[in-house]
Amino acid sequence: MEIIKILNLKKIYNFTGDKSSSQEIRALDGVDITIQQGEYVAIIGPSGSGKSTLMQILGLLDRSTSGDHSFLGHELSSLSDDQITLLRSQNIGFVFQFYNLLARTSAIENVELPLVYSQTAKRKQMAKDQLEKLTLEDRLFHHPHQLSGGQQQRVAIARALVNNPALILADEPTGNVNTTQANEIMEDFDRLNKQGKTIIVVTH
Ligand code: ADP
Ligand code: MG
Repeated sequence: MEIIKILNLKKIYNFTGDKSSSQEIRALDGVDITIQQGEYVAIIGPSGSGKSTLMQILGLLDRSTSGDHSFLGHELSSLSDDQITLLRSQNIGFVFQFYNLLARTSAIENVELPLVYSQTAKRKQMAKDQLEKLTLEDRLFHHPHQLSGGQQQRVAIARALVNNPALILADEPTGNVNTTQANEIMEDFDRLNKQGKTIIVVTH
């Protein structure tokens, strides 16, 4: 089944630095891409080539300027913002380069965040189970600054997975961790893909 189908997608930023100058930046200029359920896709390209822009659009965090884009069979142009938010929260997990964890919040609470719609007791258990799968069972109550970069990223991966989304999007997930930790993270993704998750990773 097709998860994502994109035809002639464009994203043009109108960048206004000051009053006198306005610049049109063609970050994406006619992208075609089809992604099937269960695929493991790497997006590779130099800095500034539009990888993050594409990930934001694939992840339904931003809208394109033009082009056709369907997600799980829904043409996005026919959906409201609320419908798109619902599709995203039920189907997509994100992992970012800089982890994006809440600083004053424990690992387990960070992982609970996407579960706002579940009951509190169930939420704790689900977050704990997910952290255990990523071998962080003895770091549940650590705050981000008390964890290594690799551990913080694994908390972020746990947070991405806790809703059991079909699609995982990761934008340079190993950009800020050492080689050993990077290998562990890539092994996590390999394992998840073997379990049936569709994964799109930006690597440099
Ligand atoms: P990558 O992730 O491959 O490094 P990006 O998608 O971040 O590339 O950026 C693609 C291009 O779009 C770059 O030239 C960048 O400067 C520009 N760009 C990205 N975001 C914005 C924005 N919000 N406003 C204006 N220009 C942007
Ligand atoms: Mg980027």
